[in-house]
Amino acid sequence: MDMKTDLGKEVLDIVKDTKEYLLFLKETGVAEVFTEEPPMRQGLTRGAVDRQGLTPSDKSRRLEDLREKIGECKRCKLWNGRTHIVFGTGNPDTRLLFVGEGPGEEEDRQGKPFVGRAGELLTKMIGAMGLVRDDVYIANVIKCRPPQNRNPEEDEITACRPFLEEQIAIIGPEVICALGTFAAHTLLETEVKISGLRGKIHVKDNYKIVPTFHPAYLLRNAGHKHLAWEDLQIIMTELSLKDHKEI
Ligand code: URA
Repeated sequence: MDMKTDLGKEVLDIVKDTKEYLLFLKETGVAEVFTEEPPMRQGLTRGAVDRQGLTPSDKSRRLEDLREKIGECKRCKLWNGRTHIVFGTGNPDTRLLFVGEGPGEEEDRQGKPFVGRAGELLTKMIGAMGLVRDDVYIANVIKCRPPQNRNPEEDEITACRPFLEEQIAIIGPEVICALGTFAAHTLLETEVKISGLRGKIHVKDNYKIVPTFHPAYLLRNAGHKHLAWEDLQIIMTELSLKDHKEI
């Protein structure tokens, strides 16, 4: 392939990505977009010392220690079919934590959360909030992929729950966005349907939890994207991020 063809392909990819992103914003009900870079991105890092007295580097180190404690985990049956444990990625000092269900095929392959199709949508949702993935932290309820992407089972959630709880305690986010039924049920210890939980802030153990639809569900039910956008706006207001009209 010559340089001209490479460049042409790159430009086409950029046009395609931009079109998809704008379509996502349109579907979610965003009416206006900024045509210029905002003067300074707000980001979500606290910096210095947080309310627990931890610095960002303390948090990084504690997360690394926790990952070491998990080791080559065999605490539930999922170890048998996994390629990688998917611990979590992002900013350990963030004010906003996203919690999903568990790794899918691509996440299992790469060892990172939300890097498949649902992950692409999550990245766009984070972008629509005026943020990038590195501004937030992304983790899952269970850290190993269930076979054939089946739903996590009770014993698997129970075995993994202490690690999610410790991640939350270390990061100390101001808001947790629970992505989908399993995250919402695990974090809120309820069995109420996600449609009955979303749309508001729940307070549990001093954490503010905003449940919303899982990106994989939104890929199948695009008509509900505007509801997810409403939930993201609740979070933006809570964190005093820019109003959506300015995005
Ligand atoms: N779905 C999830 O819930 N988590 C991931 O990491 C990927 C897809």
